Amino acid sequence: MYQSFIGLEIHIHLLTRTKVFCGCRSAFGDEPNTNVCPVCMGYPGVLPSLNIEAMRMGCMVARALNCRIPEKTWFERKQYFYPDMPKNYQISQFASPLGQEGWVELEGKTGGRNIKKQVRIKECHLEEDAGKMIHTGAVSLLDYNRAGVSLLEIVTQPDMETGEEAELFIQQLRRVVRYLGVCDGNMEEGSLRADANVSINLPGRGLGKKVEIKNLNSSRFVRLALNHEIKRQGELLDAGKTVIQETRLWNENRDQTEPMRQKENAQDYRYFPEPDIPVFCPDEEFLKSVERSLVELPLPRSRRIENDYDLSREQAELVCEEKEGADYFEEALRLTAAQGLDPKAVAGKIANRILQDIKHILNKEGLGLAGIASLNFSPARLASLTGLEESGLVSVKIAKRTLEASIAEDRDPADIVRDRGWEILSDPVKIAEAVKTVETLEGKALEEAREAAAGGNGKRRGTLAAFLVGKVLEQTGGRADPGIAGAQIAALIDS
Ligand SMILES: [Zn+2]
Repeated sequence: MYQSFIGLEIHIHLLTRTKVFCGCRSAFGDEPNTNVCPVCMGYPGVLPSLNIEAMRMGCMVARALNCRIPEKTWFERKQYFYPDMPKNYQISQFASPLGQEGWVELEGKTGGRNIKKQVRIKECHLEEDAGKMIHTGAVSLLDYNRAGVSLLEIVTQPDMETGEEAELFIQQLRRVVRYLGVCDGNMEEGSLRADANVSINLPGRGLGKKVEIKNLNSSRFVRLALNHEIKRQGELLDAGKTVIQETRLWNENRDQTEPMRQKENAQDYRYFPEPDIPVFCPDEEFLKSVERSLVELPLPRSRRIENDYDLSREQAELVCEEKEGADYFEEALRLTAAQGLDPKAVAGKIANRILQDIKHILNKEGLGLAGIASLNFSPARLASLTGLEESGLVSVKIAKRTLEASIAEDRDPADIVRDRGWEILSDPVKIAEAVKTVETLEGKALEEAREAAAGGNGKRRGTLAAFLVGKVLEQTGGRADPGIAGAQIAALIDS
């Protein structure tokens, strides 16, 4: 058996309004070559200037990954030639990146296995993105809108061992940067991209020959590519061959990695300090603004919510999938508690309401849980609905109908229930009237239930009783108190 060593390099687009070294708009999907200027087009003699917001967001991620922010951080020019890089060098960080030597606690379930381990972060550095090349037949087109967009690269140590761990790392990091509000984490649009490196060796022998896999644009591909690569390298070593140090690409159509270029030695980028951007020495005020912008991160928040409100681990994790969902949940609970209800007693119900009914409506409108704040059903309305349900004023069935009406009409659930007369019906005389109607309409089912009861077939009797209670509810527009209706139906069967 071999030991595997996986490291990741993850690039995230920071959500700065403008690019990292010029004032051009930073946006996805605009008309090609409309967000460009002499600086990001690499004209000679222009002066780049650092976007402090990019530096602040980069430092937020660094702190969230437990990195140290050095007293001095600066930029270097990384020399290489490629048509999507008009200056022929990239402004990046090399000797003193903005975030150094951190770690994250990797925790979760993937591939049916529980994972809990620490992954060391080597560094986080800020750089500019390159443009985009579009190959169409015999010509290649260049779009420089992306050239100069703020890019943060997060580099881990080779502390992961399976494709599943790497996949979990990316999912977890994606959630973190979305919680921080510094990246939308959209892998399809390329705002979060991953390169992976993997080597295998006999246990105790240290790292093997490193293979890099470039441009993985989904966490699933990261898992598939790495597991394929570990298997491929193992088969080579088993056959007495050696692994070539190279860069490979994942071919999603053939489910395999394929060679891209061989790399015998590390490429010499001839890094040297960027003379046009001063060394950045974060002062106390800057560091304070970074700390102030940090939020409770998804994993600790999910564990806290699980404990505070007695939710299941799965429920807590789903509630915390998006920050907006977790904020909504806790605000609804705070308002429910203000009505005098015990948060622990209603938390499960509120979580389910969000994860089922509300999420269903959001999905229909093409929004995920992240769009919950834009729905015209505020946490206050959910608290109001929960109050109606808990006080026994509306049945479960009516509660769901009230939720839908409240969204459709943009009104408070309590007003809807009052105006429509949807309060629960607990008057035994009124319910008895409905039972009487059901007795006439469903005489056959009633007769069968009586026979089952007489024959000692409790299961069949129960099924038919539930059917008849359902009919009573139907007669009352879902308003009859199911407890009273159930008792009256039982009395009718057993009479
Ligand atoms: Zn520009």
